[in-house]
Amino acid sequence: MDNSNNTFLGEDGHLKKTCAKCGCRIPVSSPYDTCKECIKKELFPKVKEFINENYDVNEMIVAQEFGIDRSIIHEWVQEGHLEYRKNPNI
Ligand SMILES: [Zn+2]
Repeated sequence: MDNSNNTFLGEDGHLKKTCAKCGCRIPVSSPYDTCKECIKKELFPKVKEFINENYDVNEMIVAQEFGIDRSIIHEWVQEGHLEYRKNPNI
């Protein structure tokens, strides 16, 4: 993820930040350049594939792998009904 500067001062003098992809408003405090929906559209299929193809992954590993917050992964896992797999050889 690049660090393009999409944070700016709005007409009312408040700091504003917009999604680099769809242009919608995102919280200034957000560490990301895109909104949650755009992050999801882009990364959810990859996260799903990653979880389906790897044994013994967890939220922490997925979060590190994709550079996004654990709470986001947690939401996706619940919404997408993803299941972490245990290595059958242990
Ligand atoms: Zn967006």
